[in-house]
Amino acid sequence: MELIALPAFSDNYLWLLHDGAQALVVDPGDAAPVLEALRQRSLTLASILVTHHHADHTGGVAELRAATGAQVFGPATEAVPEPLVRVKGGDVVRTLGLAFEVIDVPGHTAGHIAYFCPDLDGAPLLFCGDTLFSGGCGRLFEGTPAQMLASLDRLAALPGATRVCCAHEYTLSNLRFARAVEPGNHALAAYEQQCERLREEGRPTLPSRIDTERAVNPFLRSREASVTQAVRAHAASATDEVAVFAALRQWKNEFR
Ligand code: ZN
Ligand code: FE
Repeated sequence: MELIALPAFSDNYLWLLHDGAQALVVDPGDAAPVLEALRQRSLTLASILVTHHHADHTGGVAELRAATGAQVFGPATEAVPEPLVRVKGGDVVRTLGLAFEVIDVPGHTAGHIAYFCPDLDGAPLLFCGDTLFSGGCGRLFEGTPAQMLASLDRLAALPGATRVCCAHEYTLSNLRFARAVEPGNHALAAYEQQCERLREEGRPTLPSRIDTERAVNPFLRSREASVTQAVRAHAASATDEVAVFAALRQWKNEFR
């Protein structure tokens, strides 16, 4: 199996996974780069996995389905171009001979889902859309801080070796904020250097790993004393863990 991050728009990745003959694509906001990648490699598109309804994740779905006949899977409760197989937490999507467990991760949108494959060539794989980014998390457009915190807890509990396929290359700007929150986090400093090198070489910083995110991502670390103290120094009214998480997200929204 080969996993490819197809760049789209200014900072999206459309994840393409294939076995040399059949492919799946995740969140195709644009059909053109996917069709080109299929053509170059003589692949058939078997399926399209959608994590949430935003246009930069669904804009190419109708054209791709029309061109390839691929089966579309998407969140049970969101407006995604029909026809699609609607799935929710606990469901299993079977495609390319793989089984993807669907995880409900509301917060960025109300019905956002993630797809987790426990074993792909020896390591787990996660497609998490705009819920978890490397060093950050999605903005809360529809869900509450409590929902997003619970969603990120679910993802953080996945095996450490899980490869994390996020839908945007936001890593360096996320890590700049993470460093403001946790200036004494050495794992974060080392990871930031590694990501800077990758970007200088024009390469994606993704996929990340769950264990890396647990070590560097302030949104997975909001219960750590270092993060809680930094948030309270910034927003003194943040008392319980949900309020701390909400204040952390708000701080990031305003961070320049
Ligand atoms: Zn989105
Ligand atoms: Fe997006």
